[in-house]
Amino acid sequence: MTDGGMAPFGFPGLPTRIEFGARSRYRLVEAADRAGIDRPLVLTTPRGALVLADIDSVIPVHACAVFEGSRVHVPAGTIEEAQAVARDARADGVIAIGGGSAIGLAKALAHYDGLPFVALPTTLAGSEMTSVWGETTDGHKRTARDEKVRPREVIYDPELLQSLSTELAVQSAINALAHVAEAAYAHNTSPLVQTLAHAGAEAISDGLEGILRTQRGALDRLLYGAMLAGMCLSSAAMCLHHKICHVIGGALDLPHAATHAIVLPHALALNLPGAPTAEHILASAFRSSLPEKRLHTLLAQSSAPVALAQLGAPRNSVLALAGRVVEELGDPPTNPVAVTDADIELLLGRAWEGASPER
Ligand code: NAD
Repeated sequence: MTDGGMAPFGFPGLPTRIEFGARSRYRLVEAADRAGIDRPLVLTTPRGALVLADIDSVIPVHACAVFEGSRVHVPAGTIEEAQAVARDARADGVIAIGGGSAIGLAKALAHYDGLPFVALPTTLAGSEMTSVWGETTDGHKRTARDEKVRPREVIYDPELLQSLSTELAVQSAINALAHVAEAAYAHNTSPLVQTLAHAGAEAISDGLEGILRTQRGALDRLLYGAMLAGMCLSSAAMCLHHKICHVIGGALDLPHAATHAIVLPHALALNLPGAPTAEHILASAFRSSLPEKRLHTLLAQSSAPVALAQLGAPRNSVLALAGRVVEELGDPPTNPVAVTDADIELLLGRAWEGASPER
């Protein structure tokens, strides 16, 4: 870097077209047309099927079949079931309506069968913006990157999230904030990713404060922040926080958003002292010099669990995973600060008991 200049960086680009705004769900038919889909299979859950019925009442969606069996962590058997439905119905594309589970299933069909898809997210998980896909076989979840699994179009309609409980909205928003925070301190971050992260953190902070006061527009801010967070996740490496959630969530079958929400304040307490730009971004977004404490308080105010113990995870089983987390960080470790098994054991112990995060 030259004095006062900037370090060189690259940016992978964003191939997905976005429609954002209340009632944008009614532009689904145009989106499917642009994606070249004539005979869509709708992948969703019983709740998402209600969204489809609502859209269909305004603009008929000529779905050739509807599969309501999307499941968390995309079990291989569910992929096979959905593939059989797609084959029987001669589907030439997919519309995914739901959270990371429905979108994850659409990604699997894009990977295996090349089916293009349009996504209508109903949570803040951010999967629709990334090329990461995964499947679970015999309890083992495997993830990989494939550019082919990105949706052609994403329709972000905040009205689709109105049915989320405050608890789930807050947990899912903190899941999105994890993408923002880790992208801001990843080894391959860039000024552009940090700008996205800053805007994402501000939108999520506004939305979190707003949703706890039932303010109008809070969901719009959260969904906008989640969209930016997904772009961050897509553009930089994941660090300690995501590794912890992947390891303990997979090994102990813990709920995704709830686990992220509990662990993030503790992971930030460990990482932010070694990541000044990310620390500045989060401190300014949360108007606090200790943003991890503000986050922990917001989670408690939503009445969501603040302790892994509340999710039913046995203390010994959680602590026993510390070594695997450190292994997953690789060599050299993909984290802004060096960590030992003992550091992670301490962190997991605090997260298990729901203690306030401490630096
Ligand atoms: P999810 O899709 O399983 O949804 C969580 C729960 O919320 C479910 O019970 C669902 O029925 C309910 N729900 C969804 N939308 C709702 C709404 N609008 N109102 C009320 N209830 C609603 O979970 P998730 O947290 O969205 O996503 C988690 C999954 O996504 C995990 O498998 C995770 O690994 C994956 N994920 C993948 C990526 C990626 O880049 N590949 C990124 C983030 C998450």
